[in-house]
Amino acid sequence: MRELRFERAGRLAWHERDRPALVDPGDAIVRPFVAARCDGDTLPIHRPVSRALQAGMALGLVDPVVGAICGTVPFRGPFAIGHECVAEVLELGSAVTGLRVGQRVIVPWAVSCGTCGPCLRGLTAKCATTAGDGVLAAYGFGPASGPWGGMITDRLRVPFAAHMLVPVPDDIPAHRVAAASDNLADAWRAVVPPLAVREGGSVLVLGGGAKSIGLYAAGLAIAHGASTVDYLDHGAERRAIAESFGARTHANGRYDVVVEATSRSAGLRRALRALAPGGVCAAVGYYLGTGTRVPLMHMYATDATLRLGVSHSRAVLPDLLDFVDRTGFPAERVTTLLAPWEDAPAAYAAKTTKVVVHREPLGSKP
Ligand SMILES: [Zn+2]
Ligand SMILES: [Zn+2]
Repeated sequence: MRELRFERAGRLAWHERDRPALVDPGDAIVRPFVAARCDGDTLPIHRPVSRALQAGMALGLVDPVVGAICGTVPFRGPFAIGHECVAEVLELGSAVTGLRVGQRVIVPWAVSCGTCGPCLRGLTAKCATTAGDGVLAAYGFGPASGPWGGMITDRLRVPFAAHMLVPVPDDIPAHRVAAASDNLADAWRAVVPPLAVREGGSVLVLGGGAKSIGLYAAGLAIAHGASTVDYLDHGAERRAIAESFGARTHANGRYDVVVEATSRSAGLRRALRALAPGGVCAAVGYYLGTGTRVPLMHMYATDATLRLGVSHSRAVLPDLLDFVDRTGFPAERVTTLLAPWEDAPAAYAAKTTKVVVHREPLGSKP
């Protein structure tokens, strides 16, 4: 069987590998049939960052935690890439309850057990059982994040399947929730909980770095009753998508919620300075450098909250899928390249906002 591997910047290819099999009674084997490219995956694909990150860590300019997540030689290929997918269940271990073969499911990007302390608190990407001494247990990040492989593959082993796999309601087209494993769920946590306690609040999105997350966040903010959603980005195509959700493309005044999706420390400083008193900034990018110069005194003066961290997608998936099912939220509008599965090596390297690859499911409806 085949899986897609990242080889080096700009270069991905199909590789043969052994078929994963059920190991524990709680495992499932699934077959991804819709897969999306995470915004974070473009970091090594679009720039040869591995050597720059090694040098940066040696010089103290890049935070050493980058090495803890990605290895001391970050993004060294080849490794199996991809961590957003909708899959169909092929096989279930004897102890798995609540799922059936053929069912359509979301596979969260981070591997979690569902029963440890962090999982019970909703910190499913910080699972104490699966991550062990490492920083992450996840699909598609290479061996530093465990033996789980990538999601652009014919068969994927999922442990703790009764907890991990979240069924997709029948009426939701799979393509609509292609990014629910990570980026769509990350956008959800950036805007939905803060708006729930700031009813009718104003929202600013600084987009263009974490490209799809910023757009999902703009759309979700409008769908959750924000009074204003302003979306700033140098990309005209993305501005048009944001406008199609109902966002404006200029900024004015101060905001109750600011989503920082430029992935730059200058964007982070701008986002924090755009907050209204008591506002919350959700920073969804990677900030690899040391010396980010977060304006703490400004935050003190405005009673600001800065929220950042990995996406705990498993914890928000039930609410997210229920919302998409009820409202028909058109998340697929963010997809700028929809390609056949076969074409994944070229499609996954494309310089575009959101890539989704797809093929026919073997079983039920698409
Ligand atoms: Zn991701
Ligand atoms: Zn856990």
